[in-house]
Amino acid sequence: METQNKQIVLIVDDSLLICEQIKASLKEENIFITEAHTGEEAEAMVKQYQPDLILLDVVLPDADGYTLFDRLKAADQNDAAILFLTSKDKDDDVVKGFSKGACDYIKKPFVRGELLSRVHTHLLIKKQKDDLNRQNRELRTNMERLNYMAFRDGLTGLYNRRYVVGDLMDDIRDHNREKTRNVLILADIDDFKKINDTYGHDAGDQALVCIANILEGFCRRHKVVRWGGEEFLIILFDVTEEEAFRISESIREEVEHFPFFYDNTEFTCTLTLGLHTYHELEGIEESISCADKALYKGKRSGKNCSIWYEKE
Ligand code: GH3
Ligand code: MG
Ligand code: MG
Repeated sequence: METQNKQIVLIVDDSLLICEQIKASLKEENIFITEAHTGEEAEAMVKQYQPDLILLDVVLPDADGYTLFDRLKAADQNDAAILFLTSKDKDDDVVKGFSKGACDYIKKPFVRGELLSRVHTHLLIKKQKDDLNRQNRELRTNMERLNYMAFRDGLTGLYNRRYVVGDLMDDIRDHNREKTRNVLILADIDDFKKINDTYGHDAGDQALVCIANILEGFCRRHKVVRWGGEEFLIILFDVTEEEAFRISESIREEVEHFPFFYDNTEFTCTLTLGLHTYHELEGIEESISCADKALYKGKRSGKNCSIWYEKE
């Protein structure tokens, strides 16, 4: 049945006459009304319609309204407001209704105008609550998106330098094991200026994206940062030095043999990688600087190689 984005009211009452009276009272409102005459029917209706407001009778043939309240709440995923509308009019009944979590309690026989204005108010509050929840969800999504973007490089989608000053130290602390190490690799594309000059800046950009993908492919449980123009910082967590060197060489070989294409032209790239094991006492800046020294030693000794930092 078409509810046409109207707010939905479920009437739960075993008396068809009362259902008709309620419907007549609410007929001017821009709402969709549905009804149930037993507890079981009410549960099914809540599941089907996820109403905004439920007008609940306390005395039903197959259920007592206070118990039914809990069953309806369990079936409700729309945080419906529930209003008791009942001939049980003792103070204790009213208190019991509110203590269940009802938003209101109206005694029968009800006054038409009063019912109408209360329903109106509760639907308005429900709508404001829904709007607020929606805005909250949108804000949270936007915050997550902004947070993601703040830590990512626009071209490659890799982490940017902010990750290193932000979360990297937390990640390193989470991976502080006895037998394994955290290894830093600084990787720089060899003669990248020549690639730009020969094939154009766009071809260079495309090569950067391809290499970023290769790096991520080899570093699924590690982190890859676009450190500078054509320079990448890889942080390998929880590895032995043998494993780190193997990963570095696998990356180097994969890039060396990768056919880069731009405008129907094929070209190749190589990487030089400088490795250094992170030491807490050294700190992150000094550790990266050691990886950088290793990288430049690699450049000086012919490029396209993986090389450990060694103290001069
Ligand atoms: P080496 O082997 O010594 O590293 O030489 P190289 O040419 O790679 O290094 P150099 O530092 O001389 O040049 C780096 C080049 O990388 C110059 C710069 O224009 C280019 N570059 C930096 N960022 C980008 C980018 O985002 N896109 C493109 N296409 N090129 C970039
Ligand atoms: Mg370079
Ligand atoms: Mg460079």
